[in-house]
Amino acid sequence: MSSHAEQFTEIRDAIRDLCKQFPDEYFRKIDEARVYPEAFVNALTEAGWMAALIPQEYGGSGLSLTEASVIMEEINRCGGNSGACHGQMYNMGTLLRHGSKEQKDLYLPKIASGELRLQSMGVTEPTTGTDTTKIKTTAVKNGDRYVINGQKVWISRIQHSDLMILLARTTPLDQVTKKSEGMSIFIVNLHDAIGHGLTVKPILNMVNHETNELFFDNLEIPAENLIGEEGKGFKYILDGLNAERALIAAECIGDGYWFIDRVSQYVKDRIVFGRPIGQNQGVQFPIARAHINVEAASLMRYEACRLFDAKLPCGTEANMAKLLAADASWEAANACLQFHGGFGFACEYDVERKFRETRLYQVAPISTNLILSYVAEHVLGLPRSF
Ligand SMILES: Cc1cc2nc3c(=O)[nH]c(=O)nc-3n(C[C@H](O)[C@H](O)[C@H](O)COP(=O)(O)OP(=O)(O)OC[C@H]3O[C@@H](n4cnc5c(N)ncnc54)[C@H](O)[C@@H]3O)c2cc1C
Repeated sequence: MSSHAEQFTEIRDAIRDLCKQFPDEYFRKIDEARVYPEAFVNALTEAGWMAALIPQEYGGSGLSLTEASVIMEEINRCGGNSGACHGQMYNMGTLLRHGSKEQKDLYLPKIASGELRLQSMGVTEPTTGTDTTKIKTTAVKNGDRYVINGQKVWISRIQHSDLMILLARTTPLDQVTKKSEGMSIFIVNLHDAIGHGLTVKPILNMVNHETNELFFDNLEIPAENLIGEEGKGFKYILDGLNAERALIAAECIGDGYWFIDRVSQYVKDRIVFGRPIGQNQGVQFPIARAHINVEAASLMRYEACRLFDAKLPCGTEANMAKLLAADASWEAANACLQFHGGFGFACEYDVERKFRETRLYQVAPISTNLILSYVAEHVLGLPRSF
């Protein structure tokens, strides 16, 4: 066990205790029925874990990003999936950093108590994908309202959220000097919006992840729901990405440990050719290699969090942690599935479920290729490719 893993034992023990109420069967049934893990998310919220990053003055626990990452890691290491609720932990950061005093006073205490869920962030669009500055959803000011038109895709947890942060263009692309300008972010009250200009169409997908297409047809929202200054929304969204990447890295690390724990036990117990399969080095080495990579990714996660908590630039480290952790958990997932043989495919072993769940992080919230591109251009100074 690394020295970091021995730290934060209070948080680790508390999350493990809570997760004992939600054993493998709970998540298996939730996955089979394709429903939302409401009881699990409620338990995490009631225990205050989802408010980890909200400052104490707003009713949260004011923990560091490092501590928040340990919460996510432990949830996934216990067999759960933080993806059901991680938005509640970090989406509020946009409001906290860029919201007005009135907005913060109005929303943050209720988000901290769990009375309001701010679990959704609407950025991705079907026709523009990763090329975010080309988004076509528009917000046009009309008196004391903004009128929203356009479409989003893959917007998660809408059906289990009260609020959403929405990115829309307020100045057309051909009228701005820099393409990253002219976009704004809004806080959208989903109860007011759905059926009054916002239509939600769920997307059935590979993992049991509640995610949706959104259609905006003259949705009107109050002008005071603009967060920060008009036109600066893209910068505000970017400000929140480092925390998101470090936390999702931690989820992958939790998954990685889960796979390593499970497969290590299985290969000790499974006897084939008269000996445990784990006695074969052909079985040991892929597991050992995956473990080494999970540990290395975990160190990069701690480094990203350390810099973030010290208010130092951490974009490179957060991106690298996300890539290393997503790769390491995927490597561990493959070793775990492989050495379970046929049983890896049986739902009752939970390996196939976790395998599907961890695969997502090669693509979302940012694809591995885009991280490589960031490092090539911004760290190594290679020519800009797009
Ligand atoms: C389950 C799920 C939940 C999601 N939740 C949310 C959410 O809550 N809110 C939200 O806004 N979005 C969400 N997303 C969207 C997610 O962030 C995007 O899917 C992701 O950023 C990739 O964008 P894209 O799907 O449009 O892929 P594209 O941009 O079409 O890219 C497809 C692939 O092409 C490659 N690629 C693209 N451009 C380049 C390039 N320049 N160089 C090299 N390779 C490239 C990458 O490998 C990429 O994976 C979610 C997605 C999923 C699947």
